[in-house]
Amino acid sequence: MSGGKAIFLDRDDTIIDDPGYINSPEQVKLLVGAAGAMADFRKMGYKLIVVSNQSGIARGIITEQVLGQIHEKLKQLLAEQNAYIDRIYYCPYHPDGVIAKFRKYSDCRKPKPGMLLAAAKEMDIDLADSWMIGNSYRDITAGKTAGCRTILIKSSLKMPVKKRDDPDADFDAINLREAVNIIKRETASKPVIPPFAPMPESPKPAEHPQQTAAPESESPQIESPRIIEDKQMEQTEIIEPVKVAQTVEAVKEKPRQPAAEEVSTKTEKLLEDIRLLLKSRNRDELYSDFSVFKLFSGFMQIVVLGCLFIALRYKMSPNPEDSAVYTAIGFAIVFQLMAMTLYIMHKDK
Ligand SMILES: [Mg+2]
Repeated sequence: MSGGKAIFLDRDDTIIDDPGYINSPEQVKLLVGAAGAMADFRKMGYKLIVVSNQSGIARGIITEQVLGQIHEKLKQLLAEQNAYIDRIYYCPYHPDGVIAKFRKYSDCRKPKPGMLLAAAKEMDIDLADSWMIGNSYRDITAGKTAGCRTILIKSSLKMPVKKRDDPDADFDAINLREAVNIIKRETASKPVIPPFAPMPESPKPAEHPQQTAAPESESPQIESPRIIEDKQMEQTEIIEPVKVAQTVEAVKEKPRQPAAEEVSTKTEKLLEDIRLLLKSRNRDELYSDFSVFKLFSGFMQIVVLGCLFIALRYKMSPNPEDSAVYTAIGFAIVFQLMAMTLYIMHKDK
């Protein structure tokens, strides 16, 4: 094969943060270092293709129109850091969907490789020279089945869940920045070797996606995935020429990434994770450490000091009254016991 090479990227928790389910553009937040890594992939000669399961469309959680707005926001945030995606493929189908049009098994839904195979066919991609990067094992399975090499993003905050039959990824990385380093190292030191299994025979895209609802394991066809962006550098039908020009210029001026910077990536990510953990812990402690019991305990402690002060005044007066001194000390003891009780109640709450 003589086609181009590509990096297939999962979207959620690979490029952007996944707070649960993204259903509005305001929720789109790039992960630290993701845009820079994607710009580097492009400089290394890879096309960037996002492949994303979007069963929320079949489930009625999100419309294709809103998904388009979300991806526009994603492109905008990336462009601000000189990173660009060639295409976004998404699979709107799910067998349990509530929208009849999208309720079906589909070979484009990861772990099936349909989106990767469709992209390879439409964009002349050499899958054996390409990589699939994602944060779940279904990304890895899709990539391996398609014939790509694979990198599993394993964040210390969100570890992927591995089922018994899930294949191991070729490499693990803590983020896209480390994935860049891995691919640089692997492509520099070794000839490209087709991984895993031989490519399945390229299936022909279904003309009518809704016509069959065969189980995934039996269907040889690719359901047409949705493509919502196509901004290939080679094409003349450029939607945003200014941004594209910037990218081409960036490729020409490409400096080599300093080795020391690459090595420090892991440390940077670890420090970032630690910072986020400490931040959330501090916030939790701030709210969990306050209680009414503790407030009153502090108040009682002040009263105790007041009683002791009064006792001292009585004792040092020209005509000391022992009964008044003992009374003040008695009150101080009672209030001290109350303060201690309240503090214990605060601790046990
Ligand atoms: Mg993901």
